[in-house]
Amino acid sequence: MAMSDSPFRKKKLPPVAVPPSQTLPGAEAGPLRKPKLQPGSRRREIPEGLWTKCPQCGAMLHDRDLAANLRVCSSCQHHFTMDPVARIASLADPGTFEERDAGMESVDVLKFTGVATYVDRLQKYRQATGRKDAVVTGRARICGRPVELAVMDFGFLGGSMGSVVGEKITRTIERATAERLPLIIVSSSGGARMYEGMFSLMQMAKTSAALAYHARARLPFISVLTNPTTAGVMASYASLGDLIIAEPGAMIGFAGPRVIKDTTQATLPPGFQTAEFLQEHGLIDAIVPRTELRQRLACYLEFLGAHTRQS
Ligand SMILES: [Zn+2]
Repeated sequence: MAMSDSPFRKKKLPPVAVPPSQTLPGAEAGPLRKPKLQPGSRRREIPEGLWTKCPQCGAMLHDRDLAANLRVCSSCQHHFTMDPVARIASLADPGTFEERDAGMESVDVLKFTGVATYVDRLQKYRQATGRKDAVVTGRARICGRPVELAVMDFGFLGGSMGSVVGEKITRTIERATAERLPLIIVSSSGGARMYEGMFSLMQMAKTSAALAYHARARLPFISVLTNPTTAGVMASYASLGDLIIAEPGAMIGFAGPRVIKDTTQATLPPGFQTAEFLQEHGLIDAIVPRTELRQRLACYLEFLGAHTRQS
């Protein structure tokens, strides 16, 4: 039998050539290179999960560099939304964060159905984020000072406040009061969670009442507003801080600008509902870049800490 007729030879196929369109820049050996972008290049040509385009200045930012810079654009200082785990890592002393109430889960009390059911939505976001709901709470130390800390997650149903978010925030406040500790809440929210109707609105009163007891005990509460902090969250605990600080460029408000414009029939001033505008008009005490936030919080805690526990 000739070699060319061997069954083994027949099975040996030439290597499959991968079309250039299926290879990703950076997949080849060697250092990662920034893909060349032509004017008018489309976003879908950018490999997923490697580069992020800054929505403010258009700079292409490598995700690794963006994470290292606390998700702040190195060209224009635009502050991207930040995952609560990364946020806590950027604020708390290493290894000091002790999470509380991590297993608390929302239930679909109203049997809500719309474009998607509430149960489906919860399931989707739990899988996407690995968390049960839109806030992470616990105790931490910032530059050695103990605090009760709550960090909201805009990536979970728009950081909306349902019963679980409200309950976890309330418990955080109550622990701070009981333990005589300062409280820091980093907000990032589209407001109350419509899937829970009235139950979500009740969280505004509940969190505010708990804060009143915390204030009565003469303990400090620093509210940190990040992009965006709006509606029911801004109308409750986020605007009740002894100190209210915001990240640069954050959108902060109650109703959206279009609704206000339609209702009042007035022309809105430039920069309306930005952190800078609100600082100028007295609602916000300071605008602090994310890269300085930890040090500034430590400073404020030191200044406000005369009545709080020191160890
Ligand atoms: Zn930028």
